[in-house]
Amino acid sequence: MDYKEGQGWHDPRIVPYGPISHDPAAMVFHYGQAVFEGMKAFRTENDDVVLFRPDQNAKRLNRSSERLSIPQIDEEFVVRAIQELVRVDAAWVPKKNGSSLYIRPFVIATEAILGVRPSMQYSFIIIMSPVDAYYDEGLQPINILVESYYARSVQGGTGNAKVAGNYAASLKAQMLAKEHNCAQVLWLDAIEKKYLEEVGSMNVFFKINGEVVTPSLSGSILEGITRGSIIHLLKEWGIPVSERKISIDDIVKAHADGTLEEAFGTGTAAVVSPIGSLLWNGTPMVVNHGEIGELVERLYTTITGIQSGKLPDTFGWLLKV
Ligand code: PMP
Repeated sequence: MDYKEGQGWHDPRIVPYGPISHDPAAMVFHYGQAVFEGMKAFRTENDDVVLFRPDQNAKRLNRSSERLSIPQIDEEFVVRAIQELVRVDAAWVPKKNGSSLYIRPFVIATEAILGVRPSMQYSFIIIMSPVDAYYDEGLQPINILVESYYARSVQGGTGNAKVAGNYAASLKAQMLAKEHNCAQVLWLDAIEKKYLEEVGSMNVFFKINGEVVTPSLSGSILEGITRGSIIHLLKEWGIPVSERKISIDDIVKAHADGTLEEAFGTGTAAVVSPIGSLLWNGTPMVVNHGEIGELVERLYTTITGIQSGKLPDTFGWLLKV
């Protein structure tokens, strides 16, 4: 679907997958006016095809667009467009347990002009691809590098929006993490280099002395849909959970006094990723003896259980396509 100033969003259509062409001066190539979403369609045990909380993705897409001066799209339309496209390609939603159809809606600025100002033309596109289960052989703890130099986002920046440039800016640190045998980077705040933000493309949670904590939405953290679902589940289960400022010193202290019980990342791709160790100032802090914690296991089983239809959809999180 396309947008033109004065005309609004128009011409929604489903076309076969293939290259698209744009003017080399299209603003997205130069000024990075691009936002996107990531979500999945699942095939349940009853052979229904379902989306997990798509309304939340539509809302976040608009929040990201708002930050980059991209026009809003009717959220119900976004959900219906996703439903319709998945319906057309329902045969691509894998039957294999844990596999899914990954869905990537995105908006790019297409006006060909070299001046810096919001584009007056855009395209909203949805592409999809079947993906295997993130954990084919069960959950695997990951090592994380606590990043002390590079910053992912700053207050007033774009960290709480899902914009393409955030990911470009994170690649250097991601490569550094790989060199240290770490799967992801744990970002600290840009100013004090002290407060935890998030992990790569996941939000982060810690269980300290029976309480689950996660960094509050400071304005530079992406509000993950999995994060919200996990907070909801923990509250339902009566497990204390709080969103607050967490410093790296809090984690070092909890690790030293033996109260750091579990650590995990959360996101659409993996649902939950147990953190086996955190590399901070060259020293690894091993969490839960590098093993998978009970809480991570329970959260993983519950969310994947709801997505696969093995467990009842008590909270109305699933939408049939
Ligand atoms: N933070 C970042 C930077 C991400 O890219 C993602 C993945 N969208 C998340 C957190 C987790 O968000 P969600 O649970 O909606 O996938």
